[in-house]
Amino acid sequence: MRLRTLLTTVLAAASTIAAAMPRTELPASTTPGALVIGRTEPGSVVTFSGRTLRVADDGSFLFGLGRDVSGQAEIAVRYRDGTAQALSIPIQPRKFAIERVNGLPESTVNPDPKLAERIAREQTQVTKARERDDARQDYRFGFVWPNTGRISGVYGSQRILNGTPKNPHYGVDIAVGTGTPIHAPAGGIVSFVAKDLYLTGGTVVIDHGHGLSSVFVHMSRIDVKPEQRIEQGAVIGAVGATGRATGPHLHWGMNWFDTRLDPQLVVGPMPK
Ligand SMILES: [Zn+2]
Repeated sequence: MRLRTLLTTVLAAASTIAAAMPRTELPASTTPGALVIGRTEPGSVVTFSGRTLRVADDGSFLFGLGRDVSGQAEIAVRYRDGTAQALSIPIQPRKFAIERVNGLPESTVNPDPKLAERIAREQTQVTKARERDDARQDYRFGFVWPNTGRISGVYGSQRILNGTPKNPHYGVDIAVGTGTPIHAPAGGIVSFVAKDLYLTGGTVVIDHGHGLSSVFVHMSRIDVKPEQRIEQGAVIGAVGATGRATGPHLHWGMNWFDTRLDPQLVVGPMPK
């Protein structure tokens, strides 16, 4: 083959590959509670669910899906050259356990107004911490379990007490004893610390960047301070039963801003 012919062939093959490469990469499918990490051309504007996503210098971005989504996740991309693209990912449905309990004394089902006010005020503080949108990409290095043990509660399950639907369980519970160290599942900045919230007791939020955060509740000991930099695996405190907990366990929740995600989908199977 002559050099010019070879060169033409190589160039043709290269342009075919370039044409086949998507300008925006997304997973083929997703599911309720999932964290979705995508990549696009740097400088693009990506929107999902009415929010403009932070696009990193390397083009990576993320968003999360709540418990009750269905159908398709719709993403819009505007590239630097002015072209626009609409993308969608099918959402594979999943089933959540529903537990109905009837005949409970009414006072235990609906807290008195004063207590309800305290709970709402404390919840607002945590919600505010979760609005943080840092350029850090601590989520890029993957997640590890904060500790290991029997999983005693899963994301999405819901109790209906005396016919009143209560908040679904937004996190994963690991049945381990008081004092068991809690390790940061990924690096980040401590964005919230409280020793004694009514429902969640000792509470810590770690921000992993781009609006992704982890929350740890019912802690018996807290070893970190607000705005402290944490590396993956660092001990942030210890398991307990503070707040409204029936026994010692670690509750680990994850959020994309105010959207509650399933940590188990992000971290993968518990190591044996
Ligand atoms: Zn829990």
